[in-house]
Amino acid sequence: MQFSGKVALVTGGSRGIGRAIAVALAAQGAEVFCTSTKEGGCAETLAAIAALPSGSGKAQALVADVASAAAVEAFAKTLLERVGKLDFLINNAGITRDGLFLRMSAEDFDAVLATNLRGTFLVCKAFARAMAKARGGRIVNVGSVVGLTGNAGQANYAASKAGLIGLSKSLAQELASRSITVNVVAPGFIDTDMTAALTPEIRESMLKHIPLSRFGMPDDIARAVAFLCSDAASYITGQTLVVDGGMTM
Ligand code: NAP
Repeated sequence: MQFSGKVALVTGGSRGIGRAIAVALAAQGAEVFCTSTKEGGCAETLAAIAALPSGSGKAQALVADVASAAAVEAFAKTLLERVGKLDFLINNAGITRDGLFLRMSAEDFDAVLATNLRGTFLVCKAFARAMAKARGGRIVNVGSVVGLTGNAGQANYAASKAGLIGLSKSLAQELASRSITVNVVAPGFIDTDMTAALTPEIRESMLKHIPLSRFGMPDDIARAVAFLCSDAASYITGQTLVVDGGMTM
């Protein structure tokens, strides 16, 4: 129970990678707040945490659209009033609006940047002061390998995830004097709702490019995030940890 007494926030904790991260941190003793845009959206995550064998899982749900500055300020206020601090901030909420560049609308570009990049900026801003005051904490931003490589059909998404790396490195430099580390975990292809919509042909062709011969599971990402929150990672900041089964090496 290495995270006993720690408070964690996981944005987009209702399903997929976010749910796995929330459960992994709670399994190690952290009190976890998860967000969804929908009332009741995190119910299954809360149930999974309540069912942890340790019996000590503590979690609460918050409803917020991370792209809305007012909503982010409101849930940050609620969280800090309820528990007074935040140790681990995991910016995981993300969306795709895929399309070839020549057909991509400015609306689809803006929507992806608003959630994935601006949302992360807003949530970091809402908590950075409290974390700095506490002189410690971990921020882990969930990026993507396409932020490093680019991807045809994902100009908006790749730009948002590349931007996340620049944002994280800048924050890592600004917050280091307060003993706050800021890192990115960059997943490859992970089996979640986000990738479920791909055709069997695309999935098959992607699998051929993964040396470890399997798609990633949400737990693969959750374990990397838990590592970056742990004492073992206290001297790691400003880094991008790729978790992709070797796909982009
Ligand atoms: P997912 O299953 O589609 O879940 C997305 C999560 O983000 C949901 O919890 C959703 O909450 C939340 N969310 C979306 N828009 C939001 C908003 N405006 N405000 C607050 N929350 C919002 O996705 P996933 O596959 O688990 O992906 C999680 C993260 O990993 C994303 O940042 C994604 O870009 C990244 N990633 C995924 C893969 C992959 O292969 N799956 C690969 C690389 C990176 P509600 O719908 O409940 O509101």
